[in-house]
Amino acid sequence: VSAFSQSFDFFYFVQQWPGSYCDTKKSCCFPSSGKPDADFGIHGLWPNYKDGSYPSNCDPDSHFDQSQISGVLRRMRSEWPTLACPSNDGIQFWAHEWEKHGTCSALDQHAYFQTTLDLKNQVNLLQSLTSAGIEPNGNTYSLESIKDAIKQDVGYTPFVECNNDSSGNSQLYQIYHCVDNSASKLIECPVFPRGRCGSQIEFPTF
Ligand code: 5GP
Ligand code: 5GP
Ligand code: 5GP
Repeated sequence: VSAFSQSFDFFYFVQQWPGSYCDTKKSCCFPSSGKPDADFGIHGLWPNYKDGSYPSNCDPDSHFDQSQISGVLRRMRSEWPTLACPSNDGIQFWAHEWEKHGTCSALDQHAYFQTTLDLKNQVNLLQSLTSAGIEPNGNTYSLESIKDAIKQDVGYTPFVECNNDSSGNSQLYQIYHCVDNSASKLIECPVFPRGRCGSQIEFPTF
């Protein structure tokens, strides 16, 4: 247990819809392993304070060490794919998440990535949405119906972050859930992030 242990209030567990990362004015690049599945991918597990602020880069001496995730590399590629350009194997994204957020988590690198992967099994967003008839087909859905479908299935209220497609339409970009500060269970969020969606948002294909 590091010196930073428990010095934050909770985590945001953040997943991204790849279709919405890719259809903006900036577009995206597929990782070297190829086009990711048409599923939500992990963005990160972020320590946060109840006042909305957050610690970052807590240990400048702790660098990402690929050998710590050798056992879960296949899962990392499939469940935590990078879509940033230029195309790469994901190490840069994972290193960034470890150094900025993971070093504040009080978890070691192996536990940080393993725990985050395991959370994705508990929060199967695509299943929550499709079972409610909300599909990534370019249609528009009410923000309320999206939140309700996820809350019904996962058991906890999500926060929905939107971005804009290349025509300026508001669309489902990232979904946040909250996790207790020992990363052992989902909790209701003590505070939600900021940011506006339309009341009707697009769910683009990928
Ligand atoms: P943006 O400003 O694009 O929303 O976020 C940029 C980066 O800031 C995110 O990738 C994430 O690393 C960090 N970030 C943004 N909002 C939050 C937040 O509410 N909590 C934490 N812990 N990090 C955040
Ligand atoms: P944050 O600081 O918001 O946690 O992480 C965002 C950083 O990770 C940015 O530097 C971004 O370029 C990089 N990054 C690499 N791959 C991805 C990806 O697939 N999605 C997002 N949102 N950021 C990525
Ligand atoms: P309420 O808290 O009354 O549901 O919503 C207050 C305001 O926050 C409304 O404008 C609503 O559209 C917005 N809002 C509620 N939930 C979310 C969410 O998950 N994401 C975003 N971006 N806005 C939300």
